[in-house]
Amino acid sequence: QYILGVETSCDETAVAIIKNGREIVANVVASQIESHKRFGGVVPEIASRHHVEQLTIVFEEAMKQANLDFNDLSAITVTEGPGLVGALLTGINAAKALAFSHGIPLIGVHHIAGHIYANRLIKELEFPLLALVVSGGHTELVYMKEHANFEVIGETLDDAAGEAYDKVARTLGLPYPGGPHIDRLAHEGKPTIDLPRAWLGAGSFDFSFSGLKSAVINTLHNAKQKGITLEAKDVAASFQASVIDVLVTKTSQAVDKYPVKQLLLAGGVAANKGLRTALEKEFSSRDGLELIIPPLSLCTDNAAMIAAIGSILYDKGIRSDLALNANPGLELTSY
Ligand code: ATP
Ligand code: MG
Ligand code: FE
Repeated sequence: QYILGVETSCDETAVAIIKNGREIVANVVASQIESHKRFGGVVPEIASRHHVEQLTIVFEEAMKQANLDFNDLSAITVTEGPGLVGALLTGINAAKALAFSHGIPLIGVHHIAGHIYANRLIKELEFPLLALVVSGGHTELVYMKEHANFEVIGETLDDAAGEAYDKVARTLGLPYPGGPHIDRLAHEGKPTIDLPRAWLGAGSFDFSFSGLKSAVINTLHNAKQKGITLEAKDVAASFQASVIDVLVTKTSQAVDKYPVKQLLLAGGVAANKGLRTALEKEFSSRDGLELIIPPLSLCTDNAAMIAAIGSILYDKGIRSDLALNANPGLELTSY
């Protein structure tokens, strides 16, 4: 079984092919970061235009890497949402055109289901499991009792973790996307500044990062007014300490409440070195719990993860028709 995945929800044009659900045979990602950098964030119109320019090239490269013919494909799976509507449409239309012209089944998938299933490219999933999803647009704890069954037990009430990283980075004058820069600086600095942690009450698995972001901005502003210079590396270290403290503590509480066999890490912020280390320290030696952390290339947006969830949906007999449309606000539901 060969499944082709297409991902264009934001600023990565990606096509991948996986074999039998778990083996990557092609994985091509064309990033647009350089084009968006000077605007300090993703410009939707530019993103769509780049996807259109890149898609054919990325498709050809993936087919070449896999050394396959379109007739070898069992299905074409594509991100239908959430994401930027124009960006999503470029991938959906390309996937539809290929599916129609070659008579291949088409399957629309949820981007976050993809992030979670990136873990299956590393390790076979065992249920029940919990996934900590931390990305540019999402921060949530997802409980799964079987394949393609997603129960969100907690989520951010305002900013996503990645969004907070990018906004704090911007305040510190660091380039977009700021996550990796804060991560690097945090390791050089010390968490000397006392910043809030949003616990949101006992037993809550929800998150909130906008207060933390405002606290960083206010701290920098007040220091400036008093003529004090704060070192960016210490601000980064203090901010990162707060984010990791909340993520690890809430995940630990969730693991206590929901006994699971595996804990998965997913989403772009999963590339964060501090978070990866903290999770390993907290969970790698817990009896009966397996911690899975994908390599960096499978944490940030890619299409192998889209093919990975696509493979499960294909086996379940789920198909989309050619009326498949972009759904920028698509909810994560069970299939
Ligand atoms: P979503 O997946 O929620 O739709 P997205 O696809 O835009 O959003 P991803 O591509 O999964 O998000 O992740 C991008 C985010 O990950 C950015 O906010 C970026 O700053 C953050 N990020 C990447 N590397 C790191 C890192 N090392 N530390 C912290 N954040 C990081
Ligand atoms: Mg991106
Ligand atoms: Fe993503």
